[in-house]
Amino acid sequence: MVSIEKCENYEYENVKKAVKKSIENIGGLEKYIKKGENVLLKANLILKKHPDDAATTHPQIVRVLAELLKEYGANVFIGDSPGGPFNLQLLKSLYKYTGMEKAAALSGASLCLDTSSSSVSNPDGEKLKKLTVTNMVLKADKVISVGKFKSHRMTSLTGAVKNMFGAIPGTTKAEYHFFCQNIDDFANSLIDICLYTKPVLSFLDAVYGMEGNGPTAGDKRYIGAIMASENPFELDLAMTKMAGAKPDDIPIVKESLRRNLCSFEKLKIIGNINNFIMDDFKIPKNKSLHFLGNNPPKFLNDFVKLHMNPRPVFNKSLCIGCGDCMRNCPAKIITMKNHRPKADLKKCIRCYCCQELCPKKAVSVKTPVILKLLSKM
Ligand code: SF4
Ligand code: SF4
Repeated sequence: MVSIEKCENYEYENVKKAVKKSIENIGGLEKYIKKGENVLLKANLILKKHPDDAATTHPQIVRVLAELLKEYGANVFIGDSPGGPFNLQLLKSLYKYTGMEKAAALSGASLCLDTSSSSVSNPDGEKLKKLTVTNMVLKADKVISVGKFKSHRMTSLTGAVKNMFGAIPGTTKAEYHFFCQNIDDFANSLIDICLYTKPVLSFLDAVYGMEGNGPTAGDKRYIGAIMASENPFELDLAMTKMAGAKPDDIPIVKESLRRNLCSFEKLKIIGNINNFIMDDFKIPKNKSLHFLGNNPPKFLNDFVKLHMNPRPVFNKSLCIGCGDCMRNCPAKIITMKNHRPKADLKKCIRCYCCQELCPKKAVSVKTPVILKLLSKM
């Protein structure tokens, strides 16, 4: 069951009304949380971005959820592990900049400052049998995911399922990118992580989402809704419909359908989804090597990868030489020369982490003309 409630802006009373109604629609907090439990509100805090940039979950939604949970009798803490390094100093600054510090102060919730992690086994995982997970997730009795409706360069859309990638500590995420270079493998690893971390409820901030060059450098897009579900896979299916996309074009959704984690037949929506369907929502196309099949000869694979896949391009005039792209490149192929990045594209795995984590939108992704033409065929 997916609830879609209208919410026109981030004013406190509007958000409170929409969040309360969303919770009511999906059965009430008592269905998911016991009084006295420790509940992690896992926001999407991918990067140190201001709430108005629409790259991170808006703090007003987190504040309202924290207030309602506290009123109900839960112990609430707010947290996430961002895309880059994960240490106390950076985490404090992330919480301040994204508005979470204020959301915690106003609601009486705590901010989770634990940056430790543990290795766990995940025997039921399809792709990942072992995981390294933040202790902030492990020590919670219940996890509530509070993600953001956004386009994503690699996975086309990011919503409830991908929000749980933040359970993987900081730069360890890069190892997962490197391990799962094929997009379907990566989608399945995200599904495995979501199944392991088991959010009991998932919310999506779809008041303002992001389209185009997401998840951090795209354009803010007004949608006007708050979405909620007990099933993150169904929530992403509804998001796909709202974004006017086909499930086959959204790898996480395509693989969730294959793994019977959601289905169109069982998708029950409370609220009028038709009021929120966008036929012009911009989603990065990620068609690349599919036409080569699963095991193309290496020389052909290398050629196509180098010349026909969308590639990262560094804009030297926007770049401030911070080196974040170099530090977060899973393939470790970026070097800094004269305070500017240079990537060895022959070894690039096209994960677009450099684009995602650049604080200055100095990395764009360029699609070769031949691929544009093939995509239209
Ligand atoms: S491209 Fe972006 S992340 Fe890389 S050094 Fe420049 S500003 Fe930093
Ligand atoms: S250069 Fe960018 S896209 Fe290529 S592997 Fe490194 S982070 Fe990923």
